[in-house]
Amino acid sequence: MSTEQVESWKKTFETSVSQQLTTTEASPPIPLRTLTILLNYERCISDPRFLGCKLFNSSFAEPTIIDDMASDKLMHQMVLASKPASVKQVHLHAFRIESDQITGTPSINDIIDRHAPPNVQALPFAQRELIYHESRGHDGCYKAIELYQHFFELCPPGQTLSIQIKNERPVLVSPFSRRILEFKMKGPKLLTVSTGMKVVGNPGEKGGTIVTGRDQESLHSALGFAAPGSGHVDFVVDMTRMQWGEAGRGLLGELYCLGSVAGYYRAMENVCDDIEEVGNGATHVAPSIHTEAMKSCARRVWERWENRDKEGWCDYCGGPDSSERRLLNCSACKETKVRYCCKEHQKAGWKLHKFTCEKNKK
Ligand SMILES: [Zn+2]
Ligand SMILES: [Zn+2]
Repeated sequence: MSTEQVESWKKTFETSVSQQLTTTEASPPIPLRTLTILLNYERCISDPRFLGCKLFNSSFAEPTIIDDMASDKLMHQMVLASKPASVKQVHLHAFRIESDQITGTPSINDIIDRHAPPNVQALPFAQRELIYHESRGHDGCYKAIELYQHFFELCPPGQTLSIQIKNERPVLVSPFSRRILEFKMKGPKLLTVSTGMKVVGNPGEKGGTIVTGRDQESLHSALGFAAPGSGHVDFVVDMTRMQWGEAGRGLLGELYCLGSVAGYYRAMENVCDDIEEVGNGATHVAPSIHTEAMKSCARRVWERWENRDKEGWCDYCGGPDSSERRLLNCSACKETKVRYCCKEHQKAGWKLHKFTCEKNKK
């Protein structure tokens, strides 16, 4: 990505954000990472497309299902024949609506349909998790931005966010300093097809198919924040990058991406050939058929944040403490009570947590 592009993005702000930020005991700063983890968790477990849907097959377990898709004339025409030359990999995940009675969507631990073939049942945790996030990330970027928007509507006036990328001092920003960054992604590297889910807006219809990476160019958006007085976007957060698979992970292996503008550009190079800015400066997403669901998702996160001393969450995935999965404390972090839902997430979270772990501060 060129320096001009980075500079032009930084100049996103027409009005400079110069107010002095203050924090109060009643509303301490909310770490943008924590907020992103919680919003993402609640977004995924309530995604209406996956209500009662479980994984029936996946090219991770059975690579030949991509050939089967190629022999389906319509699917081939719609997806494979026109796929961009930049695509290096194709993933296919087939879901089945196991029950209409289920009100939530399955958690990562419960993603596999009980009638799925043995090699699907045997998929390791890391692959289940990848399938979970690839499928729920489809078409998710504007909904993700709307989630932050509804969350900020619930915050008291003067609420601040704290942003820390690695081990530098956290920067306090105002939710009002946010801007929606919109860009064209060109030359996707991964094509993911998820099929068999519910069709939102048409509950009677089943067998929906969603594809990420089918077009040479597609729109994507992320959220930018400005440090006080800077007048331009300093930080970018993108909650739905796992739709591009393993390469979509954040700079430190997170299930989202949080970074400086330049860091974000570099991270995008993992998932597509190039990006081109098409819009910036907007602060709000217009209401849609998803708005009510996004609002209740934001409300649940606000409640979890308010209840943080009692309930807690996994610092990697946002999962709650439950009788089936007790949260494990980081053995060193007594004061800040950093917790994980499983050994896998404790390990995955360490790349980031090592910068702030109390163990390394002594
Ligand atoms: Zn977890
Ligand atoms: Zn720790």
